[in-house]
Amino acid sequence: MVTHDITVVGGGCIGCSIARSLADRSDLDVAVVEKEHQLAAHQSGRNSGVLHPGFNYEPDSLKAQFATEGTARMKTYAAERNIPLDECGVLVVALDAVEEERLNTLHAQARENGVETEILEDEAEIEAHEPHTSGRAALYAPGAASIDAVQYVHSLARDAVSLGVDFYVDTCVEGVSRTSEGYRLHTSSGDLRTRYVVNAAGLHADSVASAFDVGEDLQVVPFRGEYYELVPDRRELCQSMIYPAPDPELPFLGVHYTRRTDGKVIVGPNAVLAFGREAYENTDVNVGDLVETLSYRGFQRLIASPKILRVAWDELHKSYRKERFVEAARKLVPGVRGADFRKSYAGIRAQLVSADGSLVKDPVFEHASDSTHVLNAVSPGLTCSLPFGDHVSKAVIENFDR
Ligand SMILES: Cc1cc2nc3c(=O)[nH]c(=O)nc-3n(C[C@H](O)[C@H](O)[C@H](O)COP(=O)(O)OP(=O)(O)OC[C@H]3O[C@@H](n4cnc5c(N)ncnc54)[C@H](O)[C@@H]3O)c2cc1C
Repeated sequence: MVTHDITVVGGGCIGCSIARSLADRSDLDVAVVEKEHQLAAHQSGRNSGVLHPGFNYEPDSLKAQFATEGTARMKTYAAERNIPLDECGVLVVALDAVEEERLNTLHAQARENGVETEILEDEAEIEAHEPHTSGRAALYAPGAASIDAVQYVHSLARDAVSLGVDFYVDTCVEGVSRTSEGYRLHTSSGDLRTRYVVNAAGLHADSVASAFDVGEDLQVVPFRGEYYELVPDRRELCQSMIYPAPDPELPFLGVHYTRRTDGKVIVGPNAVLAFGREAYENTDVNVGDLVETLSYRGFQRLIASPKILRVAWDELHKSYRKERFVEAARKLVPGVRGADFRKSYAGIRAQLVSADGSLVKDPVFEHASDSTHVLNAVSPGLTCSLPFGDHVSKAVIENFDR
């Protein structure tokens, strides 16, 4: 039976970044196991592909630190590896006085985090950046960029392979047994022996962790984000990226426009409770996952909040009724019509919810005996993946040596 020093479960941007960093910093024999046939099959390949410079995150938080550093490092990395990246900048648009005040908060945060931003104070300044957008004011962040996320993950994996990492695809970890030297992983393609396990299983990270008795008071709640895209002859409505001013309590909400590196303009995502961790269509249901979510105390507490219930209802409407989605999108680009949109792909966010019903906002990982568990690679996890991967791999090496 094959034996490795460290086995990383999950071939998304976080698992591949950790594996690459482990192999780069140590002589350990590292492997990655991925249940799908391809890497980046879930969150890492089904997102907006935006590098978010850290203007949106509380100063001194891990997220602000990783997003700022991650954006800069990914730009250099993409240039070195020929990964498509478009440094087009983002416009965050305020429609009323309350939202305008939020822009000032973001601008101040950006200064503290060392991110360049500029406040555009009238329609003319906004139109100079985005001719079809109107608003009361906007924040412009020139450092935001769009990247081909799938090519990025494949490149991380190629780096890892060249550093000696073994990849096993089509290999799902289905169970774990403790051995005198570490663990035996029971996978869909046979058993693997490993001295140490790193869990980077994304939407399934909590389930994998529970096999190690880790993260019992936390659960992943899957939220589906659905996208439309503009039909080709209306793509000129968005030149770069156009976002609404975020609600500080629910910053991931808000339909936005993103010009991707392949020239498509995607609009979305919304955020609806998914009836399964991989329920990409609004008709998909995984009964086991759904029961797990609905019976979780943390989820019940989360939806007991009137604000969350109202938002959930609103987002559900956007999922089932295109006109509600178009209405939300028209707030940023008034000239857009229903016929300009066609359905595109969907992604599912692994939203970690704690037992008290709060949404966990910062990246989280926990060590246990001979294992480390990335429980929350929260958005913008793609942007953060290089520094977060280094951060976790350093901690793993320390824990491994202990
Ligand atoms: C709709 C949406 C939009 C987003 N937009 C952005 C954005 O614009 N910018 C940004 O920075 N971030 C964005 N994010 C967040 C970002 O995509 C994630 O934070 C990041 O991809 C998480 O990566 P990951 O490697 O942890 O998870 P994943 O990519 O989900 O990888 C986990 C992997 O583990 C595998 N796996 C699970 N269980 C097992 C098992 N038992 N055995 C073997 N393999 C297993 C899965 O198949 C999967 O490939 C977005 C996310 C979503 C969903």
